[in-house]
Amino acid sequence: MFRRVYLDNSATTPIDKEVFEAMLPFLTEKFGNASSIHFFGQEARAAVDRARHQVAELVNARPAEIVFTSGGTEANNLAIRGLVEANDKYGKHIITSEIEHSAVKEVCIDLEKRGFEVTYLPVYEDGIVKIEDLKNAIREDTILISVMMANNEIGTIQPVAEIGRIVRELKETGKKIWFHTDAVQAAGKIPTDVEEINCDLLSVSAHKIYAPKGVGALYVRRGVRLHKQNIGGHQERERRGGTENVPYIAAFGKACELAKKNLAADAARLTELRNSFENEVGEKMTDFVFNGKRGSRLPNIANISFRFIEGEGLLINLDMQGIAVSTGSACSSGSLEPSPVIRALGRNDELARGAIRFSFGKENTPEDVEYLLEILPKAVENLRRLSPVYLQKVAK
Ligand SMILES: *Cc1c(COP(=O)(O)O)cnc(C)c1O
Repeated sequence: MFRRVYLDNSATTPIDKEVFEAMLPFLTEKFGNASSIHFFGQEARAAVDRARHQVAELVNARPAEIVFTSGGTEANNLAIRGLVEANDKYGKHIITSEIEHSAVKEVCIDLEKRGFEVTYLPVYEDGIVKIEDLKNAIREDTILISVMMANNEIGTIQPVAEIGRIVRELKETGKKIWFHTDAVQAAGKIPTDVEEINCDLLSVSAHKIYAPKGVGALYVRRGVRLHKQNIGGHQERERRGGTENVPYIAAFGKACELAKKNLAADAARLTELRNSFENEVGEKMTDFVFNGKRGSRLPNIANISFRFIEGEGLLINLDMQGIAVSTGSACSSGSLEPSPVIRALGRNDELARGAIRFSFGKENTPEDVEYLLEILPKAVENLRRLSPVYLQKVAK
């Protein structure tokens, strides 16, 4: 039988069975509009309220601080655009990192065209932002720092709590400055606590944690003013207009509850799977480098650059044998440019082009890793045999 092994859980995850069941009634008999006053509306409102509690619990926020959105991308847009549009009288400088998801990076690039200045912090070979660089980048007119909690391609965890502390200290001196973090990859995989991080804004997305695509949330610290981006309805306490997607919100809530409950156990299991894979690669294979500092990463991501091959070619080859991986973020696939994240590590073009992300999920088993280890070395070797540079090297 043809075997399929899904190792692209950072792109999206399958819907958990319990999550699916929590969603179903709101697709059928409980179809009310959460803004309606009658019984049907109240039923829908109760589901949204329950989900708001569940999402808040996952990140240690108050329910009133959670704004439901259509996903991580919209949460990032609302956070960054909303914050700077409401506060540009205090300055027009933004600090972010070189390895943000395109939903942060492209908003920043767009704002540069609208009179804002953006500093992109480097991450060096370990894939982690340096606090000294951040301190040096802060200016009189800096109003926003947006640094992701964990990277989606290499999994590196950023020093967000230290950034939050710096921002809080600046606030205490009277400076107008805010801190946003994209926690889409981190939430549900590592402890994510808005009080510990001291952030003002934090983005999460449902489909990265076993719930449907098309729903997410932005945490907005009490008192933080945002310029509304979706105009035309009074939902979400005037912060995001539009009829709530009750079924997906209910599903998202359930997924957050499960993620919180199982966080430690899932993380331990995924770390073990991922590490056993990496250890075997280390023993069995040659001419590769691991990307992202080991020891400061999400439990589920391995990113490896293989020399003498194109990642794209390896991806297709693995796919033909039932193994699903990716070369970078799902959002940039299709472009032939090497991953900007791998480039930001200082890797040359060859290594950037040869990068593959293996992202594990809770449905993966040790047998999946075994199968991967059976296929991967052969696939890499076969592709390398097409490379004159490689053949020259092994001939020596
Ligand atoms: C997937 C992802 C997003 C985008 O979330 P969507 O819900 O797909 O819009 C944003 N940031 C990071 C880090 C992601 O991995």
